[in-house]
Amino acid sequence: MTSQQQNNRRKEVELAALCKAIQTLNSSLNLTETLNSVMNSLIQLTEAERGCLMLRNDDGNLETRATGHSNRADENDMDMQLSHTVVQKTIETKQPILTTNAQLDSRFDKQASVVGYRLRSIVCVPLCVRDKVIGALYLDNRLKDGAFSESDIPTLIAFANQAAAAIENAHLFEAAHKERELNEALGRASAIVNSTLNIDEVLDHILEQVERVVPGDTFNIMLIEKQIAKIVRWRGNEGNQPPENTRDIPIARYPNFEKMVTTKKPVVVPNTAMDPNWVSENEEEWRFSYVAAPICIADQVVGFLNVNGYRPKQFDAADAKRLMIFAHHAATALENANLYQRLHQHADDLTRAVAKLKELDQLKNQFIQNVSHELRTPLAIIHGYATLLDDGELGELQPEQKTPVKTIRRHTKALTETVEDITLIHSLETVPLNRQPVRLDKLIHKAVRPFEEMAKKNQITLSLETPSRLPPIEGCPDHLQHVINNLLSNAFKFTSAGGSVTIKLEQRDNYVLIHTTDTGIGIPPEQRTRIFERFYQVDGSTRRRYGGMGLGLALVKEATEAHGGTVAVESEVGKGSTFTVALPIASQADMK
Ligand code: ADP
Repeated sequence: MTSQQQNNRRKEVELAALCKAIQTLNSSLNLTETLNSVMNSLIQLTEAERGCLMLRNDDGNLETRATGHSNRADENDMDMQLSHTVVQKTIETKQPILTTNAQLDSRFDKQASVVGYRLRSIVCVPLCVRDKVIGALYLDNRLKDGAFSESDIPTLIAFANQAAAAIENAHLFEAAHKERELNEALGRASAIVNSTLNIDEVLDHILEQVERVVPGDTFNIMLIEKQIAKIVRWRGNEGNQPPENTRDIPIARYPNFEKMVTTKKPVVVPNTAMDPNWVSENEEEWRFSYVAAPICIADQVVGFLNVNGYRPKQFDAADAKRLMIFAHHAATALENANLYQRLHQHADDLTRAVAKLKELDQLKNQFIQNVSHELRTPLAIIHGYATLLDDGELGELQPEQKTPVKTIRRHTKALTETVEDITLIHSLETVPLNRQPVRLDKLIHKAVRPFEEMAKKNQITLSLETPSRLPPIEGCPDHLQHVINNLLSNAFKFTSAGGSVTIKLEQRDNYVLIHTTDTGIGIPPEQRTRIFERFYQVDGSTRRRYGGMGLGLALVKEATEAHGGTVAVESEVGKGSTFTVALPIASQADMK
């Protein structure tokens, strides 16, 4: 085999290896390593001394992405000793550049780098993705003229295109992966900030989690009160020192804050040094990147989440969007914590108020109790003498004395009954019931008797309906007597002449029911539950028409319930009322 044939054979093998390597670019797990190895193959194939793949970053500067060398000792000089002019020109014109000897090429022989680095053979092709130039592939040889020829260019362009596509794909993949990770972090962070109802803890969580949602260098939370923002949490400052602006921050002085308050949208500042809205805290700015989102509660901006970066362009619109979503979750957490705190405060206030009321109620009950107790004996004496006088036991009364004595007797009796009600209602709370079998029909006959005279006098028809056989109930006759007495007193009190009062007994299931029906004034629907409260009267004014203390129905209800029974009322204003007391029959009560 001639040396020419050997050379051709070697080139074929190199080319096959290069093609294979190029094909693996898109599926490569370690892109940098593969790019480097492809660069080395290219060098072998083209007789290049050094090769370099350069990318243009966002600022237009070139960054080396892969290198290859025929001599390993040269591996580190790539950045310094290539012709940037050639690379820039390739990128600008989107055309390959080839020179067999740059020293003698009129296009480059004046370039400092070409002269200074003693560059000779150079070839450079653009890296294009779709129509965009993202960088260049540069090969040179400082020792040999004509190391490259036009015939190398198609191979280099083919590789450059593949490499550009692989790099772009890797970028997109990396960006998508980062975005997915951050979105997952956003979900977790939002759950964490909402995991507590304590405001301090919510703020701690927000600060801790914001970094996971938008990675940056320093972070803070501001809350606004009356147009003044204040930093309430911060993180990442040197030595964890408070930031310089922990003092009051008037929103009106900071266009970016004002913008967030009016638009309720996030703000991104890619480079604070170039932002006309940026207000620098001191001469030397250390925050070069900034992203912030407003915290909105019920359409009000109540604060800001601020993230700063030491380098320019650390944040983009995607970061702002995530920060905004996180700010919404943070706002919900703060609002919930606020509501909870207020609710707690209200509950505490209410508990205190209820305790105070209970105490007052107890004092009032005690007072009434004491007064009643003191009144009992003198009342009994007055009533006793009034009865003796009225009955003529102490001698015949003068005609003009008879009516006053009768009035004294009647009023003393009413007063005695009220005092008895008070004493009885109190004893229901403190003394156990003295139960015995009670025949309600008998008890009612007895209870009705005192009202017969009243019925006649007031021209009210009083009727009694009792079935022949009724089972006894288990109860305290004295208490039950008061229950019936109070129902009848009310029926008579609120019924005018010509009306009627009926008391009826019946058995229904395991209960004996006592109905008292009158044709009196009736009770408005909204009052029907309240009338059973102690001291409640429908007409509570000082100039009310009917007497009483508002205790009668409370006693009816409390005594009935103490017997395991219930009381209900049906009424129509202007037509009359029916009160129904249901008491369990004896066997039922025994079982309780
Ligand atoms: P009082 O001693 O004031 O009558 P009660 O507790 O017995 O107190 O009754 C409470 C209120 O219920 C009364 O003030 C009255 O307004 C209303 N009431 C009770 N019974 C009747 C009834 N039969 N007809 C109309 N209103 C009644």
